[in-house]
Amino acid sequence: MRIRYNLVLVCGLAACGIRDSGPVDSAALRHGAAGPMLEVTILGDERDTRMSAAREAIEHWNAELKRLDRRLRFDTVGIRADSIPDDVVRAAQNEAVIGGGPATNRLLSNLSTTPGDVVVILTQADLISFSVRWRQGSKGVVAVRRGDIWPLSLPNTARNVVAHEMGHVLGLSHNTDSTTLMCGRPASCRPTAFTSQSARFFPLTSADEQRIVSRWP
Ligand SMILES: [Zn+2]
Repeated sequence: MRIRYNLVLVCGLAACGIRDSGPVDSAALRHGAAGPMLEVTILGDERDTRMSAAREAIEHWNAELKRLDRRLRFDTVGIRADSIPDDVVRAAQNEAVIGGGPATNRLLSNLSTTPGDVVVILTQADLISFSVRWRQGSKGVVAVRRGDIWPLSLPNTARNVVAHEMGHVLGLSHNTDSTTLMCGRPASCRPTAFTSQSARFFPLTSADEQRIVSRWP
């Protein structure tokens, strides 16, 4: 019964993105020596504490993709000091729950000359971290709240917030299980739930795993 409840809950949201839920054709992806890949660019300062969190989240996802027998990998192509105006990012954040709109398109157009398939923006704004799903011909985006204040200043939180948003980039939706990586609104899960004195990533659900396997080569 619980699984049925989750499906209704998650897919009742426009963010469910049913039209983009099919398998990604390997031919639609870049290919490196090791196979299909999504190139990631990180916009931020090399000394930012979220930089290592972002790198760890990318490595974590590559380990998860390998565990799930996927050939896809994230490849970090570069760190750039460019910044996107806060008002542009904030406007797109307001559309994240409905899966996009004109402000999201404006954000994507601001990133049109940024290299890579996925752009991680380490913002200096106190917004709610959000993401834009990767689609063929359209970048995935992760926008991360400023890291020096609650809740991203809490131990173990930033790495899981970035990993959670990368999960959305790959097409995952929220669930209601607070012990898992993709728990989120409208459930009462919040980034503070990731707080831990030891460095660890929260796990995927079996439904998340099935979704990754069915969507990615
Ligand atoms: Zn989320």
